[in-house]
Amino acid sequence: MSLAAGREYLAIPGPSVVPDRVLRAMHRASPNIYEGSLLEMAPTIQADLKRVARTEGDCAIYIANGHGAWEAALSNTMSRGDAVLVLATGRFALGWSEVARRLGLEVEVIDFGKRADADLDRVAEALKGDAAHRFKAVLTVQTDTASSVRNDIPGLRRVLDDAGHPALLMVDCIACLACDRFEMDAWGVDVTVAASQKGLMTPPGLSFVWFNKKAAQARETADLATFYWDWQPRAEPAEFYQFFGGTAPTHHLFGLRESLDMIFEEGLENVWDRHATLARAVWAAFEAWGADGPLELNIADPAKRSHAVTAVRVGGPQGTEIRRWVMDNAGLTLGIGLGMAEKSSPEWHNFFRIAHMGHVNAHMVLGALGSIQASLKAVGVPHGPGALDAAAEVCAGG
Ligand SMILES: *Cc1c(COP(=O)(O)O)cnc(C)c1O
Repeated sequence: MSLAAGREYLAIPGPSVVPDRVLRAMHRASPNIYEGSLLEMAPTIQADLKRVARTEGDCAIYIANGHGAWEAALSNTMSRGDAVLVLATGRFALGWSEVARRLGLEVEVIDFGKRADADLDRVAEALKGDAAHRFKAVLTVQTDTASSVRNDIPGLRRVLDDAGHPALLMVDCIACLACDRFEMDAWGVDVTVAASQKGLMTPPGLSFVWFNKKAAQARETADLATFYWDWQPRAEPAEFYQFFGGTAPTHHLFGLRESLDMIFEEGLENVWDRHATLARAVWAAFEAWGADGPLELNIADPAKRSHAVTAVRVGGPQGTEIRRWVMDNAGLTLGIGLGMAEKSSPEWHNFFRIAHMGHVNAHMVLGALGSIQASLKAVGVPHGPGALDAAAEVCAGG
């Protein structure tokens, strides 16, 4: 006997839950790509993507996953041999740095470990040490999906300004756009990257690069710009084909149009508030469990935790057992621990993550937490009492 039959909850940090409305919007015959609704829709998607990122800048759409957006952001702004400063707070900025290296850039990494955000004083020091302005960009993630830390993006802007450093501020919002508050223009971000399959609730396959005037200027001299990744024709397309660098991602566009409608029907600020509250419910449960047992949130300071995903330390190898139990018995799929230990080491099993991004509501999160509590009992992980009460209280407005 298993209790898993019924609607499942894929609570991994990407791809996220795809709403039925989005699935229905995609369920159609191939549309005409020469005229009609698809062509009329493309500019509205671009306009609404700018609203989601809170920018008056430009937006280029790629048929690619987040890795493609990483490459696009760099290839449009950099020349071979340019240097970039990478702020690593888990796993994902390091992934971006690998792309940079392979493009022929010089990469300097400051690694802040797996349990903290980027320390602004250390960034300031690194920038002051670069009087020659060798760094052409500072690369960071807003949410690191592995550690679940949230970096202080406005703070990084201040540090760049205080140092009088002209490097572009490039932010990976792939995990948390439309989950954590993000204000590209107000926060002085020059380049933002994101993808369709997380907060934007659409299957993987689309990614986006937003860029301001300063970044557009860098494009003028960037010798890494190539035909496919060039953002210029995509930002101001003279022809429909130029939006996408070729045939449009037809069904993804219908899905994305629907997900953007859902976001603005709810209201972007309300979407952010929903994520903030559901995240606090998750944290409250884990803090109660952890009060008497080995469970621990990876990021201690609530102000530095993402509202999109939560990384958990189990203190022993039961992380994998917990994931297995909820998958087999509760219809809940949790994320693996990422970047915390070598895959071949016993410690690899000591972690898991729960995503609460995108199309997620109170009953899903409370149900997931209840399922995790059942797994703790079934697997035999000691835990403190009151976790579900604490989570319910947060959802009740406490
Ligand atoms: C998911 C994710 C990526 C990678 O996106 P892909 O679509 O898998 O290439 C990059 N950065 C962050 C912060 C992510 O969460």
